[in-house]
Amino acid sequence: MQSYQHVASGKVREIYEIDADTLLLVATDRISAYDHILQPAIRDKGRILTAMSFFWFDVLGVPNHLAGGPTDERIPADVVGRSMVVHKLPMVQVECVARGYLTGSGLLDYRATGSVCGIALPEGLDEAHKLPEPIFTPATKAEQGEHDENISFERVVQSEGAERAEALRTATLDIYSRGAQLAAERGIILADTKFEFGLGADGELVLADEVLTPDSSRYWDAATYQAGQVQPSFDKQIVRNWLTGPDSGWDRAADTPPPALPEDVTERTRQRYIEAYELISQLSFADWPDAEVWG
Ligand code: ATP
Ligand code: MG
Repeated sequence: MQSYQHVASGKVREIYEIDADTLLLVATDRISAYDHILQPAIRDKGRILTAMSFFWFDVLGVPNHLAGGPTDERIPADVVGRSMVVHKLPMVQVECVARGYLTGSGLLDYRATGSVCGIALPEGLDEAHKLPEPIFTPATKAEQGEHDENISFERVVQSEGAERAEALRTATLDIYSRGAQLAAERGIILADTKFEFGLGADGELVLADEVLTPDSSRYWDAATYQAGQVQPSFDKQIVRNWLTGPDSGWDRAADTPPPALPEDVTERTRQRYIEAYELISQLSFADWPDAEVWG
């Protein structure tokens, strides 16, 4: 990754500046679970999630931040397949979350208050229950290492103005619903997801970041779905089971770094990511560009 200025590292992605208006987002193979980055990485994970983002940007057809295709000539040969060339946009400082099911921080809020982000929900809901209709549950963008904090729609109105707040909610719910419907046709429940929007030249919303990947979304297998209990994660369950099972020797409560994942765990996890991509996109991952071919 010679030439470009490195501007930031996320938990999973590296960001470089191609020029004043253009960024290179490189998805690494890093995987996190229980707030720890695990060792070793999952081979090809960054390519698989990049393929998924491109697939979704394509089928969604809403304005997005892509400034080139997966083999754009500005992508250095060694990161082709895991990179997006994007327009650098002023980012809306709200994480735009849509939830069709109750779990995670949404369930915690519901148990404490009967509502999520100020949206009152019916009584008697529990883990993984389907909501009467999808809801917009915005969150603040947390600083590195902190957790995002759920906020009310009113707080979004205060920070973004009423018009943009409405537009964010509408776009978030619309894109979620379309994603959830397509996933459902392929046997996958899109329980919730997080979008990030940037602003175009005229202040219009532009879908940015990664989109509808397993890192930004909860995917569940519809065939094994059971309301009332914690659902296995479509992509990460193999890793979670190993970490919390007897073989890892890891004490999650002690907050020590987890031990290295055995090879069969990483390989089976890799297969899960490929399965998710192929199920949803109906495309073959073998056809996705690979750095080795180009490098
Ligand atoms: P985390 O590891 O918790 O996701 P992060 O969100 O800081 O941390 P990444 O997701 O790896 O890290 O980095 C992507 C960053 O790039 C985010 O800050 C996101 O808001 C930003 N971003 C995504 N698309 C664009 C864009 N088109 N223009 C400007 N910034 C963008
Ligand atoms: Mg991020």
